[in-house]
Amino acid sequence: MNRIRAVLFDRDGTLVEDVPYNGDPARVRPVAGAREAVRLLRNAGIGTGVVTNQSGVARGLIGTADVRRVDERIDELLGPFDVWAVCPHGPADGCRCRKPRPGLILWAAGRLCTAPEDIVVIGDIGADLEAARRAGAEGILVPTAATRPEEKAAARHVAPNLPAAVRAVLTGPPPWDFTRRHDEDCAGAPAGCPPAYGTGRRVR
Ligand SMILES: [Mg+2]
Ligand SMILES: [Zn+2]
Repeated sequence: MNRIRAVLFDRDGTLVEDVPYNGDPARVRPVAGAREAVRLLRNAGIGTGVVTNQSGVARGLIGTADVRRVDERIDELLGPFDVWAVCPHGPADGCRCRKPRPGLILWAAGRLCTAPEDIVVIGDIGADLEAARRAGAEGILVPTAATRPEEKAAARHVAPNLPAAVRAVLTGPPPWDFTRRHDEDCAGAPAGCPPAYGTGRRVR
């Protein structure tokens, strides 16, 4: 990996609170730090994009127009993002885009005219990082309450929140050290938060 030229974010549970199969723009809530994270990247001239599985379309629960309205709302609140890549398929469809397959990332990389090796994917579950790995991109996990312990254990990079992940990206290529606690990462967080991240060592 040379210089990082773009960061692709997972949508639900990473940029915005996860509302399953959300088709309602009024229910979009950015996660804490999302605005700052995207702003830091934009100020540094690094491309931004969103890569999102929306199997609610394949399941008949929402339409592509619903997804687009929600995406437009997210663009209003946090964007504009340079590229949006959406997989509307279900797990049984055998498509090439649904994460953990790499298609969304490869497609977004093409749209950004950027090699996958110069892209970082930030997501909240193992499928996001697996898609990054298969595409040849780097991945950072920003766990939520829904992230499984084994996904955290398997991730090479685990950041406590989006701004911390982005600040690491801005320092240059990996490996990044998230084991040290940075005061700014924990500003306003409850005592003991984040409890442990990075290698899993508890750092005080
Ligand atoms: Mg997610
Ligand atoms: Zn797909």
